[in-house]
Amino acid sequence: MSAHGDQQRLQGTTPETQPVITAPHQLKRAELLERLQGNKHGLSQDEVNSRLKRYGNNSLPQAKPPGITHTFIRQFFNPLIYILLLAAFVSLLLHEYSDAIFIIAVLLINAVIGTVQEYSAQRAALALQQLVTTHVMVLRSGESYQINSEALVPGDIVLLESGSRVPADMRLLSEYDLEIDESLLTGESLPVSKEAGLTLEHDTPLAERCNMAFAGTMVSRGRGRCLVTATATATEIGTLASAISRPPQKPPLLLRMERFTFMVGIFVAIAVLILATIGFISGTPLEEIFLLSVALAVSAIPEGLPVALTVALAIGMNRMAKRNVVVRRLMAVESLGSCTFIASDKTGTLTVNELTARRILLPGQPAWHISGEGMVPVGAITPPTGVDGDGSKLLIEQLAIAVTLDNEGFLGLREGEWDHHGDAVDVALLVMAHKVDIHQADALATYEKIAEIPFESEHRFSASLNLFDGRPTISTKGALESLLPMCSHMATTEGRQPIDRDALEAQAITLAAEGYRILSIASGACVPISDEPFAVSHLHGLTLLGMVGMIDPLRPTAAAAIRNCRSAGIEVSMVTGDHPLTAYAIASELQLANSLDQVVTGTALREAEQQSHAAVDQLTREARVFARVEPQQKLAIIESLTRNGHYVAVTGDGANDAPALRAAHVGVAMGKSGTDVARETADIIITDDDFSSIANGIEEGRIAYANVRKVIFLLISTGAAELVLFALSLMAGLPMPLLAVQLLWLNLVTNGIQDVALAFEPGEGNELKQPPRAPKEAIFNRLMLERVIISAVVIGIVAFLTFRWLLQAGYSVDEARNGTLLLMVLFENVHVFNSRSEHLSCFRHNPLRNKLLLFGTAAAQLIHIGAMYTPGLNEVLGVKPVAIGHWLQLLLLATSVLLAMELHKCYLKLRHTNHV
Ligand code: ADP
Ligand code: MG
Repeated sequence: MSAHGDQQRLQGTTPETQPVITAPHQLKRAELLERLQGNKHGLSQDEVNSRLKRYGNNSLPQAKPPGITHTFIRQFFNPLIYILLLAAFVSLLLHEYSDAIFIIAVLLINAVIGTVQEYSAQRAALALQQLVTTHVMVLRSGESYQINSEALVPGDIVLLESGSRVPADMRLLSEYDLEIDESLLTGESLPVSKEAGLTLEHDTPLAERCNMAFAGTMVSRGRGRCLVTATATATEIGTLASAISRPPQKPPLLLRMERFTFMVGIFVAIAVLILATIGFISGTPLEEIFLLSVALAVSAIPEGLPVALTVALAIGMNRMAKRNVVVRRLMAVESLGSCTFIASDKTGTLTVNELTARRILLPGQPAWHISGEGMVPVGAITPPTGVDGDGSKLLIEQLAIAVTLDNEGFLGLREGEWDHHGDAVDVALLVMAHKVDIHQADALATYEKIAEIPFESEHRFSASLNLFDGRPTISTKGALESLLPMCSHMATTEGRQPIDRDALEAQAITLAAEGYRILSIASGACVPISDEPFAVSHLHGLTLLGMVGMIDPLRPTAAAAIRNCRSAGIEVSMVTGDHPLTAYAIASELQLANSLDQVVTGTALREAEQQSHAAVDQLTREARVFARVEPQQKLAIIESLTRNGHYVAVTGDGANDAPALRAAHVGVAMGKSGTDVARETADIIITDDDFSSIANGIEEGRIAYANVRKVIFLLISTGAAELVLFALSLMAGLPMPLLAVQLLWLNLVTNGIQDVALAFEPGEGNELKQPPRAPKEAIFNRLMLERVIISAVVIGIVAFLTFRWLLQAGYSVDEARNGTLLLMVLFENVHVFNSRSEHLSCFRHNPLRNKLLLFGTAAAQLIHIGAMYTPGLNEVLGVKPVAIGHWLQLLLLATSVLLAMELHKCYLKLRHTNHV
């Protein structure tokens, strides 16, 4: 598709009326709101609907994948095909019309098979990518909603947070510490910081429009409240047609195989040249030599390989998708199989990320209990025995108000049902507050919010500034270590008292050791610092109100998945921002760690980093839990694990996880809880966020890789067998054992059906019981070589002996070739079953598990027998029907390769047991 064509398509979908405002960066915010007929509480749903009609959806036209004709034509752009076309042309010159027609027919059939396979593989890949949609938070009629980004209209108000992909072109209304990575648009690799308050000159370059956020860019930190000024193709990125259509990438395995095919091609060319010379010396006519050389080259070169591999990988992708693993880069299909280490998030991946507040700790008191489950705010709070509940009621209420004000989540009744969105910690706290009758909407009405410091993993706290009776009040929540330095007092039933840090820490530790995620809460008056905006410097002299202990249930499948990983030779570790004791409690329940020595904290890691790489590597070698680490430290962990010789898969969800996701061999993002940044950096996306899906992905990755090997084995070994057959015949001074057309028939028509069926092989069932494959291991390892040589030699020799015997027994050359061709077809039929497993006996492999293979094999044989009876075709091919007795004899001969490969499998088993 030309750039020009794209341009036209884009313009075709752009409604005339967009952009509504040109150069919104030069307008004041209020003016812009007015011009867009919006307001700061957001549009109403009716207004949104009418604008959607007027301006269309907020989506860019997708670059179309190549069409079916295009794919078909591309099948002919292949050096091998050129050779064949040349051969057809030469045949025409030599008046061998039937040969010429046959070659062209074979080419067409081959191209059709290739097209169908490639086209359906492409379609499948495309469908997978569309499983992942982007969501945004909007403000409509004063309430926040999470919507699909396609439903945005100009005038909408969008709430951005770190990790979001900016969904449309927008003018900032307000922002906190907002930095956006605009490299996609401007090429600038560092994130740029944004400023809502500025108005800019009309001709400010795109890269300097710091009061705007542009569609397609990524929020690397902070928060922003923005007004949509243009959607879809009216956005800056929408006008850049080229940025949309990314060229499809070929997986490295495929590239390697294309190179490999090329190398085999050269090798075969040399071999063919030698054979041709021998043929010439022994007096074969020149034209026959030419056609045969071509046919032999085409037979021995595994030209079907790239397509068969594409199919095998596509099938792998599909199977993974069924198990909730979406592959973003095809390479991941093969690399997953090599993983030796998974560094996994805790929250949301090993646990379900449905936090429930169960305990409240007031300073100096035993824990209060909270009843009720999940996100429905029904439950009660009961004081510990011996504590006067009424006396502490005020304290609990204070705490509940603080967590409600300092909160980015939402909990409320919508259409009679409890609805919620936002961070799981925030929502859990809202649910808890609701249980003591503190409601979000009421609290915010009483305490007007004036500023906030939103939660970022690396700070481990958040804060909010609200006005109460005209007095600025701070509410803050976060890890105890983060809050303690901000507090000078603590709240008790006897009033505000000087803080007892040790006692508070001891209280926290008892709950953490039971696996509770602990959040501390503090509040206090805000002492303004002369016109400085609300920031960390304001957070001092606060009063610690108490702590909340939350439970996040383990995923029921996690423990078993970890066990499976272990037996598959894969180590698992947990990386979390949570408290070491909380993390350890969970890790030991999962049997991930069994001693506190296996817990490494972010601080310890940093200290080791200051010493040397070796010190870090020593730490990561034993560690199974990394606690209180900042997202940025994940990168150091990955790098160290890689130095330790691991092939690492890492999970990540936040904007700051992008470097680690990129550095890991397999970056894994979570489909539900992950941010856009993480999802777009990752190699695979786990759509159900479940750790066990990663293990399933690894299993499927190993199966796909094994199938790739099976396909390669079948194609290479049968090609090599033909070379052996020809070499032996020529050396023995016999005529060519097969005609050129017969070779083409054998390879492109009969074998061409079987090889792809192998790509559909189900797993052998023991994929997760073996150690991972060495990432550098070549496909052509010793095992593959042994198998290829044995089968090629056996098939080649048996076919040669048969051919010679037929000639000696007085059959004509044509009849001998007819028998040899049938024998070769039978050999390939039998050999497919050898290819199904490298280790497992063919007899222990249920043939019904891959019906397509059974069907393909039968089809190959039937097509050949059909050809014997088809007038015209049988003449071109030089075949004719054989007696059933002969057929059976040949079948018996063909089983020789089965026997040989079975013996080889036995030998492998012996070799294996002797080694262990
Ligand atoms: P995880 O690796 O489990 O996702 P996080 O980075 O989310 O860890 O959290 C680390 C710590 O930050 C928590 O232990 C908690 O103390 C604090 N924290 C988590 N979520 C919030 C929040 N929404 N507001 C304030 N503090 C939080
Ligand atoms: Mg988290």
